[in-house]
Amino acid sequence: MNENILPEPFQCDECQAGMLRLRFITYFTWLGEELITVPNFPAWICDVCGRREYDEKSISWLTMLLNPNAGKPTGRKTASRRATPRAASRPSAES
Ligand SMILES: [Zn+2]
Repeated sequence: MNENILPEPFQCDECQAGMLRLRFITYFTWLGEELITVPNFPAWICDVCGRREYDEKSISWLTMLLNPNAGKPTGRKTASRRATPRAASRPSAES
């Protein structure tokens, strides 16, 4: 039932005077040589100095959308160099 409640604004670190408030802006980012615009992107904006902070979750979501390869390993094989276990099958001397 709290759909319409915006998160509380918080004090700006930059100017110590303004408050960062959640707004929905158009976010611009470059993808290679292409400028991508993302409308209605949540950002915290200071009402005094204009400092912007982006929601971490939204940023990582966006990064994932724009970089489908982000989560995949980039040809870097993790060489699983495991020392061959000596005495792996140790007889359980219990008796
Ligand atoms: Zn500020």
